[in-house]
Amino acid sequence: MEQKDKKVLCIGLVCLDIISVVDKYPEEDTDSRCVSQRWQRGGNASNSCTVLSLLGSSCAFMGSLCAGPVARSHDPLQCKAPVLLHVRKLHHSLKLLPLMADRRNVPDVTAEDFSKVELRHFKWIHWEGRNVDEQLKMIQQVARHNAALPWQQRITISVEIEKPREPLYELFAYGDVVFVSKDVARHLGFHTPQSALEGLRCRVKVGAVLICAWAEKGADALAPDGLFIHSDAFPPERLIDTLGAGDTFNAAVIHKLSNGARLEEALTFGCRVAGGKCGFHGYGGIADMVTRQE
Ligand code: ADP
Repeated sequence: MEQKDKKVLCIGLVCLDIISVVDKYPEEDTDSRCVSQRWQRGGNASNSCTVLSLLGSSCAFMGSLCAGPVARSHDPLQCKAPVLLHVRKLHHSLKLLPLMADRRNVPDVTAEDFSKVELRHFKWIHWEGRNVDEQLKMIQQVARHNAALPWQQRITISVEIEKPREPLYELFAYGDVVFVSKDVARHLGFHTPQSALEGLRCRVKVGAVLICAWAEKGADALAPDGLFIHSDAFPPERLIDTLGAGDTFNAAVIHKLSNGARLEEALTFGCRVAGGKCGFHGYGGIADMVTRQE
C-alpha cells in the first residue's frame, strides 16, 4: 500500500458533551437560563478524527466509549470498549463504524488490544495521553514495526500531553510530533509558548517536533532542526465556541504534516482552521470554511 493511501489513526477518548449555551459566564451559586443546549460527540481523539475527516484525511479512531443510557440513546456508537472505528464522511455528517468491540468496563485501549491493529494500514498514529504505561507499550510496537521499514514507509508517532498530570510527561520522549497544551505549560511554570518550548525541548527526542498552541496567541513550534516557528492566531469575526479548538488545531496540523507539508505551513493551517472553528458551534462548518479558503 502506498503511503498516501494509508490512514491516520487517533487513539483516545470519545464521550458525550452536553453543551449549555448561556448569555454570560455563570457566577458561582447562581441559576442561569440556557439560550440553547445541544449534545455533541466529544473526547479529544474523537474530535480530532471528526476534523481530520472533514478536512479530507482518511482516518480511524480507536478508544473506549463512556458507558450509559444517555450516550447509547444519542449516538450510533454502542457503549462497549475498546472499540476501533472508522470515521467516514456521509453528507457532511459523520458515520462511525465499529470494527472491533468486545469487552465492557475497560476504560482505555491496552497494548494487547493494539497488537490486533494491522499497522500497515496507517501512516500516522496519534495518542491522546491517558494510560501512559500501556500507551508506551503501543508506541514500542510501532517502533518495532518501523525498524523493519525504510523511513518513507514508517508510521509517524504523535502524542498529545493536554492534562497537567505528571505520568503523562513521560510521553514527551516518545513522539515524533509532540503537542503540549498551554495548561501543561503553565502548570510547569511557563507563561508564553516560546518559553514553554525553550524549557521543554530537553524532554523531547532529538529531531522531534514540539508544538504548543496558546489560544488567541496562536501557536509555536520547535522544528527538528532546532529552529522556532510561530503562527499568529486567526480570530473569527465573532467568538462563538472555543470547545475543541485544541483538538481542531491538532487535527489540522496532523492533516497537513501527514500529507507532506512543511511545519510552518501546517502550523499556520492549524491556527487558521482552529480560529475559524471558534466562529461557529461544533465542527460542521469546517468543511465549508476550508472549501471557501481554497
Ligand atoms: P484548547 O482548546 O486545548 O484550550 P487552545 O486554546 O490552545 O486549545 O487553542 C488551540 C488553537 O485554537 C490556538 O492555537 C488558536 O489557533 C485557536 N484559538 C483558540 N482560541 C482562540 C481565540 N480566542 N481566537 C483565535 N484563535 C483561537
